[in-house]
Amino acid sequence: MGYTPMIQQYLQIKKDYEDAFLFFRLGDFYEMFFQDAIQASKELEITLTSRDGGGEERIPMCGVPYHSAPNYIDQLIRKGKKVAICEQVEDPRQAKGVVKREVVQLITPGTLMDSHTLEDKENNYMVSITPFDERYGFTYCDLSTGELKLTMFETVEDCFSECALIGAKEVVVPQNFKDQWTDTLQNRYGVTISVQEKDDDTASFPQLLKNLTHPEEISTVTRILSYLHRTQKRNLDHLQAAEIYQTQHYLKMDEYSKRNLELTETIRTKDKKGSLLWLLDETATAMGGRLLKTWIDRPLTSEREIEERVNFVEILKGRFFERQDLREKLQKVYDLERLAGRIAFGNVNGRDFIQLKNSLSQIPDIKNIVLGLLSTSTKWDDYLDACEEVYELLDKAIQENPPISVKEGGLIKDGYHEKLDQYREASRNGKTWIAELEQEERRKTGIKSLKVGYNRVFGYYIEVTKANLHLLKEGQYDRKQTLTNAERFITPDLKEKEALILEAEEKSVELEYDLFVGIREEIKQYIPRLQALAKAISEIDVLQSFATISEERHFVRPTFSKDRKLVIQNGRHAVVEKVLGMQTYVPNDCYMDAERELLLITGPNMAGKSTYMRQVALTAIMAQIGCFVPADQAALPIFDQIFTRIGAADDLVSGQSTFMVEMLEAKNALTKATQNSLILFDEIGRGTSTYDGMSLAQAMIEYVHNEIGAKTLFSTHYHELTVLANELPRLKNIHVSVSEENGKVVFLHKLKEGAADKSYGIHVAELAELPREVIQRAQEILATFENKEDTPVKAESQVKEMTSQDEQLSFFVEEKSEPLQEKGLKKHSELVEELEKLELMEMTPMDAMNALYKLQKLLK
Ligand code: ADP
Repeated sequence: MGYTPMIQQYLQIKKDYEDAFLFFRLGDFYEMFFQDAIQASKELEITLTSRDGGGEERIPMCGVPYHSAPNYIDQLIRKGKKVAICEQVEDPRQAKGVVKREVVQLITPGTLMDSHTLEDKENNYMVSITPFDERYGFTYCDLSTGELKLTMFETVEDCFSECALIGAKEVVVPQNFKDQWTDTLQNRYGVTISVQEKDDDTASFPQLLKNLTHPEEISTVTRILSYLHRTQKRNLDHLQAAEIYQTQHYLKMDEYSKRNLELTETIRTKDKKGSLLWLLDETATAMGGRLLKTWIDRPLTSEREIEERVNFVEILKGRFFERQDLREKLQKVYDLERLAGRIAFGNVNGRDFIQLKNSLSQIPDIKNIVLGLLSTSTKWDDYLDACEEVYELLDKAIQENPPISVKEGGLIKDGYHEKLDQYREASRNGKTWIAELEQEERRKTGIKSLKVGYNRVFGYYIEVTKANLHLLKEGQYDRKQTLTNAERFITPDLKEKEALILEAEEKSVELEYDLFVGIREEIKQYIPRLQALAKAISEIDVLQSFATISEERHFVRPTFSKDRKLVIQNGRHAVVEKVLGMQTYVPNDCYMDAERELLLITGPNMAGKSTYMRQVALTAIMAQIGCFVPADQAALPIFDQIFTRIGAADDLVSGQSTFMVEMLEAKNALTKATQNSLILFDEIGRGTSTYDGMSLAQAMIEYVHNEIGAKTLFSTHYHELTVLANELPRLKNIHVSVSEENGKVVFLHKLKEGAADKSYGIHVAELAELPREVIQRAQEILATFENKEDTPVKAESQVKEMTSQDEQLSFFVEEKSEPLQEKGLKKHSELVEELEKLELMEMTPMDAMNALYKLQKLLK
């Protein structure tokens, strides 16, 4: 037995949407069948039922009501799934056989447009990656704002890194994209993968491709556009012409560095709170919020562009009242970028238009304030375009408090359209006539309680209570409905008026919708101008945010040095300072130049080494995004890249151990850094045994010093490394000072020249209140180690020797470098000899244990 025609239709459509949940419209529900139903019932926690579909077995089925579908769709999209919306595309009453159905939109994580699902202050990016012979095309697009950018990368890893940097939600790839790459993207970066084969459909998007000439560039952009075109099936007029960007125009930070420096979220909680973004976000608009995040992700490297931003921040910082005024006006500007997107997409309503109108009404004031602050003419002169025509049209046409629906009338103002006014007049007249009728009939019949009413089924009627029926003349009205206490009547006149009113209302609702669509189409032409305006507003908003924060937190204007000199006086870690409070935070200087390129920082745990290192990096980043910086004075080189190796976060998702992540981060820095980069290495080598780690650390320091010459901050708890300053001229020791009071350490958080005199690990353990026995025992053991002469090796040659022996840290095999078995001595005589050599009175219990262990080992 075959499937019913409807199920056959379902299967036919589903074939094209294998990787999506097919929401199949049946009356007031979206239904899912077969595997989709089984999975969706689990994901959405809805009941799984079944229906007879003509096959041998019943078909699994589940469904969601049409009106609550958006919530369910959201849930699936958040889990990285796709949903194909399949609607009835003909009137069921007119259909012969099964109603025609088609997929009208494919909703995916990268193509969300609904304002309630999107985060206001975050972009929703989708990406396409196209491998060519020698490079990879990378395009990204935010469908909600229309942004479309592309670049070329040399390796696929660079593409992955960029995906992580922009927080891509979905990646579109060709059919032949390697499985292993797809796996990495899905598993490591959590993106949804979509396949789009055809990338040569250039004819459909001439406007969007106008800035591109190279076939590979065109091909990479066309892939994403073809995908959007195929899945969205609607107008995408708000997409902006593709723009090429070069990553070398921005300060490069790999994904590790971005994460380690907690630029947009914290490492541990993944919250915005506690990040640099959180500190700097005093933006008044959603657009400004998104742009701020983009700027933090991509600091500049062009001094001219940086200065342009900083100049305006300086002006705004000094003009408190104008800035307050500006903030107030900006707060009234809605998300023009996304509004423009929805206008093109066709899902705006009357309320959006009122928001647009109110936003536009702020622009002249904003322009006045901004231009008043600047002495010379600026790009903002043109971009702050109040689009008066749009304002006037909306002001004339749209009611102040329109309903959400655009299909039920009540949207358009009186006086906007003659015909609409006539319909409304007819309806109003009819209603007046009916109101008068009640008085008239009461008078005629003498029935005071007679009333004229309306319901949807019978329309207008005259109601007379049973007690008064006798006052009516025979056949005065036509009887229509009998209630318990009353009778309802109609008259031909009443019905005639009713027809007029209803017709007028129906027509006016239809006309209102047509007028609304007309207005929407007209405003569409202004989308590029609205987008330019949105861009100007978001820039001004971010810069006022910088100015506000800079004033509040006493930041200073940075200057940029040409000779790669870095001078920070009384610098602070602005985020830690905000959390700790200004009084508590101890400011520190940092000085680096051609003779001082590598700072080796020693000092106990918890002293503030990593805070200091991050402080320097964050100061550089803040300067390069155009903000003031937390210091009394700061002159900085413009860095091309920042690398970090900070903290110990296991990369559980990708199954890499802490040490492996540490080495990958180190590799990135050592292979990619230049003289103009900044490297932060925090406690490198901690993830392995002492000699292993120390050898690696030393080798890296030598390499950076001799081969790269990047500005480097290297913190370490290996004191032994501080002697490197004797051999490496551009390496200097600094340390975080602590004072010891009554045997207890007090952290001063103050950086000083020179190496720290000793480690304070045990003191820190004491502070953490480890059991007293453990602390005492550790002190004993430490004393033993300190008495030994064979402290780790300092010369490069010796370090090399040691690494090859794969040393492991263990109390008992400490002297593995000379295994006794290898001496080839006879067991017994050797044993005696060894025993004789022991100087028991000089030994600690630990030494004795070690010796015993070795002796016993000889016998085995
Ligand atoms: P380390 O890297 O040396 O182990 P951290 O940089 O992690 O130490 O600092 C430990 C704690 O000390 C931080 O959480 C912070 O609260 C505090 N701290 C660090 N630097 C300062 C400072 N300059 N002023 C005040 N407190 C600081």
